[in-house]
Amino acid sequence: MIRQYELVEKVRSYDADVDERLLDRAYVFSLKAHGNQKRYSGDPYFSHPLEVAGILTEMKLDGATIATALLHDTIEDTLATRSELEGMFGAEVAQLVDGVTKLSQIELASESHEQAENFRKFVLAMSNDIRVLLVKLADRLHNMRTLHYVPDADKRRRTAAETLEIYAPLAERIGMQSMKNDLQDLAFMELYPDARESIVTRLGYMAKKAGSIRARVVKQLKKKLKDNGIKAEIISRQKQPYSIWGKMQRDDISFESLSDIMGFRLVVEDVEACYRTLGIVHAAWQVVPGRFKDYISTPKRNNYQSLHTTVIGPERQRIEVQIRTREMHDVATYGVAAHWGYKQKAGKVDGTQYRWLQELLEILEEAESPEEFLEHTKIELYTDQVFCFTPKGELTVLPRGATPIDFAYAVHTDVGNSCVGAKVNGKFVPLRMRLKNGDQVEIVRSKAQTPQSAWEGMVATGKARSAIRRFLRNSGQGEFAALGESVLRQSFSRVGYQAKDQNFEEARRALHYKSLKNLFAEVGKGNVTPLQVLEAQFPGVSFDGKKLELDNGEPSNGADSVLVRGAHPGSAVSLAECCFPLPGDRIVGIIVPEAGMTVHTIDCETLESMIETEDRLVDVSWDPKAMETGMHPSSITIRAINEPGALGKIATLVGKNRGNMTNLKMQERNLQYFSMNIDMEVKNAKHLTNIVAALRTLGVVESVERVRG
Ligand code: MN
Repeated sequence: MIRQYELVEKVRSYDADVDERLLDRAYVFSLKAHGNQKRYSGDPYFSHPLEVAGILTEMKLDGATIATALLHDTIEDTLATRSELEGMFGAEVAQLVDGVTKLSQIELASESHEQAENFRKFVLAMSNDIRVLLVKLADRLHNMRTLHYVPDADKRRRTAAETLEIYAPLAERIGMQSMKNDLQDLAFMELYPDARESIVTRLGYMAKKAGSIRARVVKQLKKKLKDNGIKAEIISRQKQPYSIWGKMQRDDISFESLSDIMGFRLVVEDVEACYRTLGIVHAAWQVVPGRFKDYISTPKRNNYQSLHTTVIGPERQRIEVQIRTREMHDVATYGVAAHWGYKQKAGKVDGTQYRWLQELLEILEEAESPEEFLEHTKIELYTDQVFCFTPKGELTVLPRGATPIDFAYAVHTDVGNSCVGAKVNGKFVPLRMRLKNGDQVEIVRSKAQTPQSAWEGMVATGKARSAIRRFLRNSGQGEFAALGESVLRQSFSRVGYQAKDQNFEEARRALHYKSLKNLFAEVGKGNVTPLQVLEAQFPGVSFDGKKLELDNGEPSNGADSVLVRGAHPGSAVSLAECCFPLPGDRIVGIIVPEAGMTVHTIDCETLESMIETEDRLVDVSWDPKAMETGMHPSSITIRAINEPGALGKIATLVGKNRGNMTNLKMQERNLQYFSMNIDMEVKNAKHLTNIVAALRTLGVVESVERVRG
C-alpha cells in the first residue's frame, strides 16, 4: 500500500502548487470512514481507493481528482454524506465524489429497458465534468485487476462484459489508449481465457523469431534519422492480444498474416520533424499504397494525432510506422488526462470539448425512447470513422458504414430531409452506398422529397436515424394512431373488456409511453401487439393469444414469432435462408408478393440484386428480446489443413463455445486442404462472431467466413 507521504510526494512531483493539506485530509478521512471493511482479497478496503488514486497520479491528474479518488466510495459504502464532504473538502471535490457515486449506482448491465434508461443517466452524469469518468475508469481498472478474487463466476463475467462493452470504448473515446488496452486485456482474460492464452503464446513465439530483424530495423532507422539530423525516440509497438482477437472477429485474417507485421513509433521534436521523418522513411523503403494516414492535419474524434504509414522493410517484411511529437504521444496514451500535464491551470476541462459527447447529448434530446437512444449510442461507440469532404472541401467525420444520407444529415437536418440523390467524387451513386475515406460528397436536393422509411436501415449515424424517425413519426403518426386505437378497442372487447381510455392507462405506463397516442401509433405500426397491451393492462391474467391473432387477421407465424419490429401488421415474416440473419445483425425486410415479408441482413448479396425496387424494402429492426431468445440457424465456410484430427478440433471448439452444429457439407478436399460448410445454431450475431474468431486461433484453420447470401 502506498503511504500518505508517498502519495503527496508523487502529486507534488508534477504539480508543485498542489494543496497538500487537502490530500492529507482526504487520506485520513477515507481511512477512518472505511474502518475495518475488507475487500474480497482480504485486504483492508482502504487499499482500493488508495490504488485508484495511485493510478490517477500516473496520469498526472490534479489534486481535486486525486482527493476524489481517495473519497470515491465513501458516500456509497460508509456513513459519510455529500454535505459532510462539502463542508470538509469544498464544493468541487464534493461534486466530483457525488458524480462518481451516481455513475457507480447506475447498473448498466441490467434488463434492456432499464439498461437504456441507465445509460442515458450515465452519459448525463459524466458530461458535466469529464474527471468523474476518469476516476470511474481508474476505479474499474483496479476492480478488474482484482476481479479474480470475486468468488461468484457469473458476477465476474458480467463485470468483464460490461468493461468490454461500455468502459473500454469510453476510455478509447477520450483517447486513453493504455487504459483501454489494460481494461480489454483483463476482461479478455476473464471471458475467453483459452483464446487469449493461444494468442499470447503465439505472439511470444513470433516476437522471438522476429527479434533479430527488429533490432536491425531499429538500427537502420536510427542511422537514417541521425544522418538527417533528426532526434527521435524509437519505440517498438506492442501488439495487444485483444485487438488481434478483434481483428480476427472482423476480418478473415489468419494469425500469421497479422503477426508478421512489425510496428514502430517514432517520437520526434516537433510537427515539422514529423513530416521530414515521413519523407526519410518513404525515401528509404518502398511504400505500401493506401496505408498512409495523416491524423496530424485531421485528428481523430478523440483528438488523436499522428502520421501512419506502412513500408516494405529491409528484409521484405511489412513495417508499420507511426510518427508523432512527444505531446501527441502523451495524448495518444493518456488522452484527455494528458491535458492536465500540458495545460495545467487552464481551467476546468469538461465534456463539451468532445464532439462525440455533444452528439450523444443531442441524440438524447431527440430520441423518443431510451431504447432508441441506446441503439444509436452503442453503434457510435463501436464503429470506426471515415473522413469525407463537402464540395467546398470542408471536413465531415462520420462513422464507418455511413452513407450519403448520413452525410446529408451531418451537414444539416434540412439537407437530409430534402435529399434525393448524391454525387460522390463527381458521379451519381445509390444512396445506400457506403462512403470511403477521402470521398467528396455532393447532396442533390429537392423540395418535393421527404425521408423514406427505408432510409433508416441505410444510415449509420444516430443523428440521421433519429431525424428520420422523428420526421416519419410526425408525418404518419395520426394515421397509425387511429388504426392502432381501433385494433386495440376491438381486441379488448373480444376478450370481454370494455375499452375505455382509462383502460389503456395502466398499459401505457407499464410499456413506458409518453402518451396514449404514442402507444396507439406503435400498435398501428405493428411494433406492439394487442396481446402485449392486454398483458400490461391486466398483469397476471392469461389471454387466449390465438383468438386475438386470428381476430386481427394475423397469421400465426407473424412478426412476433421471429421477434422483428417494424413489420406491417398482418404480414407474415420469415428469415431469409441465403444470409441467415441473426439477432444483432442490421436487417431489412423485403416484401415478396403473396408470401409476406422476408428478412435479410443489410449486406446480403442476394438483396443487392433486388434493390431496383426500393419501395419493396421495409425498414425493420430486431426486438431487443430476440438477443436472449432461443437459438438461430447460421452457416459458416471453413478452410482448414487436411490432417488427421483437424475436424475433431474444429467440432470440439464449436461445442466448447456452445454452438450447436446441425449439418456439415464438404465442398472440396485435396491432399493439403479441405473446405466445408458448417450449419450451426447460435444465440445471436455476437455469439457467431466469437465462434468464428475462436476458430481462427486454431493452427489448422486457414480461413473462416460467415455465409452471407
Ligand atoms: Mn470503487
